[in-house]
Amino acid sequence: MIEKVGLSKDQLDRYPHEFSGGQRQRISIARALVLNPKLIILDEAVSALDVSIQSQILNLLIKLQKEFNLTYIFISHDLNVVKHLSDRVGVMYLGQMMELASTDKLYENPLHPYTKALLSAIPSIDPKEKKERVILQGDVPDPSDPPSGCPFRLRCPMAHERCAEEKPEFKQIEEDHWVACHLYD
Ligand code: SF4
Repeated sequence: MIEKVGLSKDQLDRYPHEFSGGQRQRISIARALVLNPKLIILDEAVSALDVSIQSQILNLLIKLQKEFNLTYIFISHDLNVVKHLSDRVGVMYLGQMMELASTDKLYENPLHPYTKALLSAIPSIDPKEKKERVILQGDVPDPSDPPSGCPFRLRCPMAHERCAEEKPEFKQIEEDHWVACHLYD
């Protein structure tokens, strides 16, 4: 398994401090794979790595997914990385699902105001592309004491009276696209 993740058997006797961050991440992946899983949860798996190492680990994950027929739940704040790796994306706020869609639908037609704000913050490499950045006001509330109604209402630019009174239902809007927002009732 150590060879499957791009390391060699003679490295197995080394101490942890003798490995780089990327190599340690490869070891973590090998440790998960020896259990022969169907599902692997990757929680901020590449966020601590240098960008060039990030892409190596992401490519390794994609290769291993095909080879071992794996499903990943990939948790990240990096929306470019999420887009690169995912078939479906769920956007969460205060531990609750705000929007869920196939990757193409979510990135091409985001519906929830929180998703729109997140996507507007992705920098573009095209200097001609003009993006309108949505800046959210305020801070994330305490998850143990969430606001009434919609969890996002204190920061939502589209919030209205009903949002404070009633929690929006998480419902399907079109094929493979769900959202929790009163704007789509
Ligand atoms: Fe904004 Fe209201 Fe929709 Fe919540 S339900 S995201 S506060 S518009």
